[in-house]
Amino acid sequence: MMFTRRAALALATGLVTTLAAFGADPALAEGKGTIGIAMPTKSSSRWISDGNSMVEQFEAAGYGTDLQYAEDDIPTQLAQIENMIAKGVNVLVIAAIDGTTLSNALANAHAAGIKVIAYDRLIRDSADVDYYTTFDNFKVGVLQADSLVQCMKERFADTKPWNIELFGGSPDDNNAFFFYNGAMSVLQPMIDAGEVAVPSGQVGMDVVGTLRWDGAVAQARMDNLLSANYGDKVLNGALSPYDGLSIGILSSVKGVGYGSGDMKMPCVTGQDGEIPSVKSMLAGEQYSTVFKDTRALAGVTVKMVDAIMQGQEPEINDTTTYDNGVKVVPSYLLEPVALGVGDIDALLIESGYYTADQLK
Ligand code: BGC
Repeated sequence: MMFTRRAALALATGLVTTLAAFGADPALAEGKGTIGIAMPTKSSSRWISDGNSMVEQFEAAGYGTDLQYAEDDIPTQLAQIENMIAKGVNVLVIAAIDGTTLSNALANAHAAGIKVIAYDRLIRDSADVDYYTTFDNFKVGVLQADSLVQCMKERFADTKPWNIELFGGSPDDNNAFFFYNGAMSVLQPMIDAGEVAVPSGQVGMDVVGTLRWDGAVAQARMDNLLSANYGDKVLNGALSPYDGLSIGILSSVKGVGYGSGDMKMPCVTGQDGEIPSVKSMLAGEQYSTVFKDTRALAGVTVKMVDAIMQGQEPEINDTTTYDNGVKVVPSYLLEPVALGVGDIDALLIESGYYTADQLK
């Protein structure tokens, strides 16, 4: 059958209109390819920033995106990833909820020629992870412990040993071990030297981990630690690996009177520079956080994907640290930055990460 040019154009226009009417996403249908982005949860603002920055930067580079959040539910994330594979995305960028449960899906992705990038959290027990973009996670822990010690020197100069309690991240997140080990590289020698004590005796990721990074779980654990171990002792600090846990820990200590009268606020660390924690720092409660600029992590990830899509070797800067149990995953690591109350203006406001109004 022959079409005139005009008829062909009308047909094509009709097709586009029909696709639009049936809800086809133009972002999926156009550009240099489509990137599936699987993020863990919207309950923590850092992942919202990660997702938004990636969509913005991928689109600016000419890619369509399919961004999904799984509200910390492992089967939901798995279904989202399987769906992206079925839809034929070109690359998968995944911040896993549980880094050990994706092996089958990723084998299917590879069988379909889809490259896989582990985003911020390493995906474990799978040969089908091509690259990893993240921050220096051991250093995050070192920065947290350094700032904990710094704060105790400022607030509790006359006390020794300093009484602290340790909190770890989610045991199904590989990062949690790096943060904890980084922190303990600073704290363990001080414990051994008798400068720091852990009155509960709870040491080690098997006892201090906090499943799904849940602030309510940390708060309940701090309540128990205080009532069981601090009858005649003062808590000087808590190692917290994530702002959401820090807020729970602070609620717990405030609940028994710390931070008012003559009970000084214990030193509490954090990570991510989330708004409630930055506000808490401005109010003199949380002592510090670790800032990891999600715009920069999105940026290196977009650059990596673009190189892969053009058949080039992406830039990496670490080929030894991240063994996922099956292979050492070639990685690009960014530098985390310690953030105290005095750094908020320069690092968070002047850099445009937050507006001043968001922190009021
Ligand atoms: C991330 C941290 C975050 C934590 C909880 C970790 O994998 O590296 O930035 O605080 O997950 O969401």
